Order: sequence, then C-alpha cells, then structure tokens
Amino acid sequence: MFAGSFLRPDRRGGCAYKGALKARAGIRLAPGPLPSYKADPRTGFNLGPLGDTLDLIEYEGIEPEEALRRSMAATRERPEADPGLAAWTRFALERYLEGGTPGLLPVSHSWVLVTRLGKPDNRGARRYEQCVWGRPYASADGRVRELRVPVARELLGAAAQADRADLAAAAQVVAFGEPHRLPDRFHWHENARPVPDAGEAARRQPEEVRITEVSCLDGQRHELLRESPEEVRRRYAAHGLPALAAAVSASAFTPGHDCEDCKYTPRCPALKRLGGVLGIEDLTRPRRTWSVTNGRSYVGRPGRDEGCPARERLRRLRLPDREARALTPQVIRGHAVHTWIQERHEARPGIACRPDDAPDGRSSWSAGRWTVPREQADLGARMVAAHARHCPYKLSTVAETAHEQTLVVHDTAADVVVVAKTDMIYRDGSSWVYRETKTDARRNPPQEDDILRERPQLALAVLLLGTSTAIGEDISTARVELEVLRPHGARLTVIDPLDPEVRASARQVVLDLSADWHADTTALARPGPHCQSCEMAVWCRPASPDATEG
Ligand code: SF4
Ligand code: SF4
Ligand SMILES: [Zn+2]
Repeated sequence: MFAGSFLRPDRRGGCAYKGALKARAGIRLAPGPLPSYKADPRTGFNLGPLGDTLDLIEYEGIEPEEALRRSMAATRERPEADPGLAAWTRFALERYLEGGTPGLLPVSHSWVLVTRLGKPDNRGARRYEQCVWGRPYASADGRVRELRVPVARELLGAAAQADRADLAAAAQVVAFGEPHRLPDRFHWHENARPVPDAGEAARRQPEEVRITEVSCLDGQRHELLRESPEEVRRRYAAHGLPALAAAVSASAFTPGHDCEDCKYTPRCPALKRLGGVLGIEDLTRPRRTWSVTNGRSYVGRPGRDEGCPARERLRRLRLPDREARALTPQVIRGHAVHTWIQERHEARPGIACRPDDAPDGRSSWSAGRWTVPREQADLGARMVAAHARHCPYKLSTVAETAHEQTLVVHDTAADVVVVAKTDMIYRDGSSWVYRETKTDARRNPPQEDDILRERPQLALAVLLLGTSTAIGEDISTARVELEVLRPHGARLTVIDPLDPEVRASARQVVLDLSADWHADTTALARPGPHCQSCEMAVWCRPASPDATEG
C-alpha cells in the first residue's frame, strides 16, 4: 500500500527505506531485542484530530461543537488531547469549513487504486494498492472528484507544480481509484476492502479531477491541479510512476526523526545503538526522538526562560508559529552567519576564510534562504569576519568540513532515538572534531562557569564523540569545540570528550535535560514570564488554578 504523500517535496531528509518498508507491508522482519513498534498513545500529528472531527461532521452529520468535543475526548486507545492541540484544532476547523466547492459532497470512503498481477514481479509482489492522503469530495453524479489537502501552514504560492511526483501519484488515485475502506495503522499489512454499496456514481470514472490545498492557518485555498483523467494518466506516466517505482524499491537509509515510529528501528543496520546516552533506564515509555532542542524546550534555558512541559509538547507537534515569533531578526542573523560560512567552506574546501570574505554589512545581505534585515546586517557581517580567526582550514591538517550533519543513535536503555544536529564536523588528521558555532552579540557576556550546562549541545557531543559507536572510527584523539563569534572577535574553547570528569558532567547535564521529559505523560503548561517569548502562547491553554486544585 503506498500513499503518494511520501513523495512530497517537503519530506526531504526522510528515510527512503522506511517508505519502501511501509509500502511493502507484507515484509516480515525478524524480531529484535526491543518491540518493533511502541507508539505514543497521544497523537503526534497536528492535523489528526482535525481529520477525526471532520469525519464526524461530514460523514455522520454531527454538529461541529459536538464533533470537536468527541474527537478531543479520551478513549480506550488514547488520552484526552492536549489543550493546546485542541485550541489549534478548533481554529483549523473553522478555517477549513470557511470555504468549499459548491456542488461537491464529502465522500466517506477512500479511493484506492488496486493493481493485480498474474504472477509475482521482481519484488515478489502480486498486488499493489495506491491510496491518497487528504479529504475526498465528489459531485453527486460522480463527474467531478476533488481531493482537499489540509495543511498546517500558509500556502506556498503558485510555484510550478508541473513535475511534482506526489501530485501526479495522488491525481492518478483520485482519477482511477475505486471506493475502499483502508485498514487502520495496526493492520496496514491487510488489503483495503472494497465498498460494494458505494453506489453507481461513486464507481464511475470522473471526467474532472481536482486537488486543492487548504491552509488551516488562514482558510486560503489553492487549486494545485484540475485535469481530465487522460491528462492525469499522462502526468502519472511522466512524473508519478517513475518516482513511485523508485520509492517502493528504495534502499537508502537516513536515520533521524523517521526512526521514531519505524518498525525496523530495533534491527536497522543503519541506526547506531548506544545504551545509556540519556542515563535513563526505562523501556516502558513510547519510543520517541529527542534532541537538545527538545530538552531545552522542556527544561528551559539557563538565565533566559523557565521550563514548560507543554512548550516542548506543542513544538513537537509542530503547531504553527502563527505570528512567526520564533524567527526574530537575531535568529535570522544567526542562521545567515552559519550559512554564509558553510557556503564558503563548500565552495572552497581546504582554503581558510579571511575577514574580507564577509558580506558587506552596510546593507541587507543574504545567505541561503536567510536574508539579514538592515539593522542586523553590520553585526552579522562582523560575526562572519570574526570566524576567520579560528577557521578550521587554517590548519594544514584539515582538508574537509561537513556542515549540518545529523548524528543519530538509538539509546536502547531509554528506548529513545537521540538526534544531534551538528553545526560542523571535520577531520583534523586522524581526529574527528565536532564544532558548535554560536553567535553572541552581547557587549559584556557573563562568564560561562559551566560551559556544558550553558551549551548542552556540547554535553551531548561529548557523550557521542567519546565512543566509537556514533562516529564509527578511532576516537582516541577526538575533540569538541565551541566557537563563539562576536562583533569584535572570536573565541574557541576546546573540550576533551575522553576526560572522565568532563564525561561525568556531560552525563549529568544530559540526564537533567531529559529525565523529567522521559517520564512525563501529561505535558502540563507551566505559565510564567517566559510565556512572553513563547511562540506557542497563541495555542497554549494552561489549566486555570481552580481546575488543578484537589
Ligand atoms: S530505523 Fe530509521 S534508518 Fe532504519 S529504516 Fe527505519 S527510519 Fe530508516
Ligand atoms: S505559553 Fe507559557 S505555558 Fe504555554 S507553552 Fe508557552 S511557555 Fe508554556
Ligand atoms: Zn572558515
């Protein structure tokens, strides 16, 4: 069974092998030391409750208020939805229901395109099923079919859609699929079941196929495609089929966030295993990913904000940052400084950066997708120039740097997939070096007494670099570096990841950052002054003090 949404362009960075494995649902994997799948009973999908609510409204005629109540309520399988998720769902529902296409009615079954083969093909398969993600609608006579795809963001504009493989694959299913019921996620290996009583109109081939994206942030709609079945067939042959065939046969592994709910996680040859990274021994919790960013969302950042479990949970759910509060000019400047340096290194490997390689800070400048606003331009340019002092290529023993790499290990003692996104990794002779680069515009920054606690990314790097599991080679001379770029200079701090004292401190920092999160099942909001800078405040609904008493 294959949903073309796996081909979406925004899935870059996802694991291709996981997609193939999901499509080839009949493949039985040998049992591993841990269960293959330990789902979190709380939903991890920010549009999941919206779909449940719309099912009740559109298929059972339930009033929106009651439908919302039911889809947020606890059931035998799941706890009550987080209040923040409920607030977002209510908002998204209103936006979704604002518009619609006159004359089209909701369709309560799924369109599934089944291909049966006389004999097994080179994958050993005799049956293929293709389905689509989105909400199906059709005219009463079946001449028009429309797939509406809700998204938790603003629409991306009318970018050229012509060769989008996911659109081509989805349109093929909308045009030629037949009414079926899909198995639930726990029975995904079973066949979709035909719906014999769907009616004549539902079974006829449409004359027109539409795919429309609906923004649940502002109710905007954008028709991505409106074509006849013949046009859809041609589009599919040119763009959909090749991509789909490649996806089903994919063999490339990309460990990362996808490992959280991949059934191959306990045995996957590409995923490194390292018990004890977090210092937690508890296999009872759902398998989840964790990064230092998650830890800081939960625990807070020393001297900057306080801890809040709901903040971590709502960010993990990727509720939209409606007012773009997280992307402050300072944050954009930081990204641009990193990207500028990265582009320099990639364009001229082996050649040390010089101060005059920095951008002209007298006006706004860009690096990658980041454009530094005028008022931050000079500061950012001076930070780029400051990097020259400790550019790794100043060392004749450094030939190559790699930016924005992700180190992933499965902590099998906590059953957590630990994800560390690095700023830069490079090899100095035979040593691996992990470098974290920070920008700091403060005129008189306070002394950092406990660098690992101030910068917990370094603590995690110490734990990962101090063992050959994560890096996969000799680590006897590995080191961790912190480069701080300021408008008037740069500082480099070097940390030995094999020093027992350093390792003990790093372990404590990482444990303090992860232990409460790991045990937490409620993710309650903890309001305070830190809410002022929290981009989730728009959805957050802390319980009133009365409600928490007694
Ligand atoms: S465990 Fe991770 S890397 Fe391995 S197949 Fe699954 S998602 Fe891919
Ligand atoms: S607004 Fe405040 S209470 Fe709500 S998630 Fe953010 S920090 Fe927590
Ligand atoms: Zn450099």
